[in-house]
Amino acid sequence: MNLILMGAPGAGKGTQSAKISEKWNIPAVSTGDMLRAAVKEGTEMGVKAKSYMDAGQLVPDEVVIGIIKDYLSSDKCKDGFILDGFPRSIPQAEALDAMGVKIDAALSIEVADEKIVERMSGRRVCSCGASYHVVYKAPKTADVCDVCGAALYVRADDAAETVLNRLNTYHATTEPLKDYYAAKGILICVEGREEVSDTTAAVMAALSKFEA
Ligand code: AMP
Repeated sequence: MNLILMGAPGAGKGTQSAKISEKWNIPAVSTGDMLRAAVKEGTEMGVKAKSYMDAGQLVPDEVVIGIIKDYLSSDKCKDGFILDGFPRSIPQAEALDAMGVKIDAALSIEVADEKIVERMSGRRVCSCGASYHVVYKAPKTADVCDVCGAALYVRADDAAETVLNRLNTYHATTEPLKDYYAAKGILICVEGREEVSDTTAAVMAALSKFEA
């Protein structure tokens, strides 16, 4: 299964992507995670991306298209993959089509803006990639990662003003992709619920038709 995961920032793409990856045994790639790693390492790409990310804007298309091209040409994607957070604009979707990759489904996790703001303000993340919410997905010990024991922190771009910018960017630039994939007959919309397990159940039910 070659899958695209879409949704507003904080809709739960990363969480669901990990669940699908585990169940289907296919790799997941998050352009957001890769860009954050590049920023941390101070690479040329990271330096270029940082100002956009801090402002809640999209990083230029050619940067993320390059990342995805390299990733999809690697051997580990031969039995399927999940793209978490790519494409995020029509030119990115067109670039993906131009790579000759067949996408089976574009799954959109739908969450209302008010809920997104509430969720992002409670999000806590770990450098190992794990993600929590102080109310909805609290770690066993406050501010400590269940997976690796490191201290959790608030993502820089989860600050209230940046969240609003990211939501605006989502509606203006990314949401039109729903029509793009609906026209191809591969759009699936799932309601993002308060309980992670409810969303996972809905996601798995929607994807069951791709099971062998
Ligand atoms: P995310 O972790 O998916 O919310 O991504 C965090 C930030 O990384 C976004 O707000 C963008 O600045 C940048 N980013 C991630 N994926 C993309 C993409 N496909 N196109 C452009 N920018 C992206």
